[in-house]
Amino acid sequence: MAEQSRSDVTMTFRANSDLPLPLRIEEEDQAEQKNWLEQLDINDFDFPYLDSLLLASYSDWLPQQPSFPDSHQAGWFLANYLGEIIISQPLIQIDISDQHMISNNLREVLEQKVTLSVKDQKGAYVLSPVKTRHNHEVFAVLGCHINDVNESQFPFAEMIVNTAAQHLLACFYKRFEALFVEDLLNAQNQAKREEQRRAMLFQVIQRLSDKIDVDSVLKEVFERIAGMYPDAKVELLMSQDHPSRDPRIRTLQLQEEQDSMCVRAFMDGVMLWEDKQKDNGSSYAEIAVPLIGKQGAYGVLHLFLSDEIEEADRQLIGILGDTAGTAFENAKLYEQSNLLISELRLINELVKRLNQSLRLKEVFKFATEELLSIFKAEYCCISQLDKESDCFEIMSSNFPRIFKEFFPKDYGFNGLVYSTREPIILSDYQAYGKISSKFMEETKSRSLIAAPIIVRGEVNGAIMLAHREERFFSYDNYKLLQILSQHIGLAIANASLHAEVRRMANRDMLTELYARHYLDESVQKHQRKDDGGSLIIVDIDQFKGINDTYGHQIGDKILREVSSIVRSTIRKTDIAARWGGEELAIYLPGADVESGYQIAETVRLRVASETDPKVTVSCGIAEWTRDSEKISVESLFYYADMALYKAKNNGRNQTHIGLNPEL
Ligand code: GH3
Ligand code: MG
Ligand code: MG
Repeated sequence: MAEQSRSDVTMTFRANSDLPLPLRIEEEDQAEQKNWLEQLDINDFDFPYLDSLLLASYSDWLPQQPSFPDSHQAGWFLANYLGEIIISQPLIQIDISDQHMISNNLREVLEQKVTLSVKDQKGAYVLSPVKTRHNHEVFAVLGCHINDVNESQFPFAEMIVNTAAQHLLACFYKRFEALFVEDLLNAQNQAKREEQRRAMLFQVIQRLSDKIDVDSVLKEVFERIAGMYPDAKVELLMSQDHPSRDPRIRTLQLQEEQDSMCVRAFMDGVMLWEDKQKDNGSSYAEIAVPLIGKQGAYGVLHLFLSDEIEEADRQLIGILGDTAGTAFENAKLYEQSNLLISELRLINELVKRLNQSLRLKEVFKFATEELLSIFKAEYCCISQLDKESDCFEIMSSNFPRIFKEFFPKDYGFNGLVYSTREPIILSDYQAYGKISSKFMEETKSRSLIAAPIIVRGEVNGAIMLAHREERFFSYDNYKLLQILSQHIGLAIANASLHAEVRRMANRDMLTELYARHYLDESVQKHQRKDDGGSLIIVDIDQFKGINDTYGHQIGDKILREVSSIVRSTIRKTDIAARWGGEELAIYLPGADVESGYQIAETVRLRVASETDPKVTVSCGIAEWTRDSEKISVESLFYYADMALYKAKNNGRNQTHIGLNPEL
């Protein structure tokens, strides 16, 4: 009640005062302030609101009341501008009959502005007017009842009461000025907050507009709010998954939180607020501000302020939301275009480097390394469908345990990618549980992205990238892998084709043995790095006769049978070629002439028993070593040919060793 009337007083004073209301009390202003304060006064418009101020002044004044000589008991009371007694000391018992008299006298004091003394049965009343300091209007009356006082003592009594009234007036103006100072301080605080708001707005607009990355924009928003509302609780709900370590940033669950203020603010694109009460009765405000840019809404800024909010705060927070929305959008677009540029660069670089090598093995190895580094994955494996076994073969991996392993076509994530022809993103393998994967198990990985390698419209293999952390890969990663896998697929197709062409170029079509030029080149290479080797020339005996007897087709079949015997007799590192016509040549790297002889004999004996119709072969062998002066393919062939010639001359179906005169 008292609080209410005091604020009314304040408002009236301000309305009636045409003096400027200073907002700041700086030191140099203080003298002026004092002067200004002293000039302030109340007038009759204010009188109806003065009771509480009068009561407060009375209680300040009472402890210092002047005392009358002991023989006279005195009691004080105070009346307002209407002559109503608003407070009196308990010892004053006013009779009903007295009351009427006092109010008449009080009215007289108020009107005549004079001090009045009135005799009663016990003593006398002295009533002293309390006047405004400038216009001397009576706004209260201080009264005092004194026992045992006679009329001759009235002047003395009046002097004491008048002095007391002056003192009360001083107490009143002290209170009155204090009220003003308080009002001033309030105004100053208000101004300070206004200034803070403006400063924040300025900073928000200035600082947010030059932030070009999304995280800095969000950080700036939090900082600005903390600066303005230190007690505020803030969180940011993003509509899209926004990976952040900041616990204040989380994803807006549109489905789950359908009725929440945040979802409503987001859906309607408007700021919402509500003043609320805690259980302990204290009030707070909940605010949801959507972050909106030109292209859409990005999230909601959710605030709890420890007080009810003012209109100015609402506007400020609204502007903050708009500015942050635009800044976020700009930063996001900037990031996206940067991402796009770097993705294009990456693809360009990858394609360039993939195409530098036409060797399949290198393509796999290089793709694995690049993918690991691009996606910051811990594990990578690239598999290829093996036509013969109809299984996936792991062609390349940085996890050696599965390298070169075969997996059925419907197994694991390779199988899923194969059957769906679609890429996969898995945030947590442990929680998924639908597919078991050796790759994921053994690497203890939880996150996975995988994509099929499609070559000429068919799934040819798969790429898998894994990380032990859950939710490691982003949706952007997944999309990028999809693009990269197409390029890797192309590189694999190119390298495979190239390998096939190379293989065909080096092979003889009929016998599937190497072609002569390949053998020539291989021998040359070996002669550059090895210390020795042997060459066998195998020639089918009387082959012309076979052709003449059975026809060319049977001749061809015999040629293939002999070639197959040769192939299955020699080691993988030995090179067998069709030397020309029905002559074959075998180069045995590092082998001396004795071991060459063994092999030639094995071939010769097998041909004699395994061919149908039966044929025989003659063989000539020559050897070279590092010690021989002239190391050349030509001389090696020359000596082998010489030996073959001898074998033929000696009756065929036999092996001869060519003598190198330099040995
Ligand atoms: P020799 O024991 O002295 O080696 O007698 P030969 O008949 O095997 O030798 P010659 O060099 O006189 O004849 C080689 C024959 O091999 C001639 C040719 O018809 C036959 N020939 C060469 N290339 C092929 C081929 O690709 N297919 C078939 N069917 N015959 C071939
Ligand atoms: Mg021949
Ligand atoms: Mg022959």
